[in-house]
Amino acid sequence: MESGTLPKSIDPERAAGQGLVVQGGLDPAPLARLRELVAGDTGPISVRLVFGRDEQGRGLMQGHAEASLPLLCQRCTDVFPFAVHTEWRLVFARSEADERELAEKGIDVCYHSGPLDVADVVEEELILALPMAPRHPGDCEPIARPVAGTHPFAELAGLLKRPRRDI
Ligand SMILES: [Zn+2]
Repeated sequence: MESGTLPKSIDPERAAGQGLVVQGGLDPAPLARLRELVAGDTGPISVRLVFGRDEQGRGLMQGHAEASLPLLCQRCTDVFPFAVHTEWRLVFARSEADERELAEKGIDVCYHSGPLDVADVVEEELILALPMAPRHPGDCEPIARPVAGTHPFAELAGLLKRPRRDI
């Protein structure tokens, strides 16, 4: 069963039983946590979710999301479009004990009853996929930093140092 639009929420147990496949664009505007981490407007996020079952019959979701996110380069402090592609496999545990057991094996697992908020899941996965210190993929000019002691341009660099803004 395949559907062309992305639903807001999904019942994971039903979706697993149906082998549901959904794909579509997710509007990034309501994703407040993600918005705090990016340096401008994000285009639509392309998402694909495939539901099924693991060997023991538990429900699982395999997800894929990609987007171009504006990030602040930590080397030159300019904003650049970071192409993020992320994939995940999340197993739905049957109980809290089941969840603990799977987590100990290093399996991404959640114990969840009721519908799954699609935007929440995708936002979480995109945040996990963001680099800790984003940098332009190619070369860029590092901002001048004052170097203690012997650097000949230390003083100049100090004069050129721009105040940092907290964003
Ligand atoms: Zn840069």
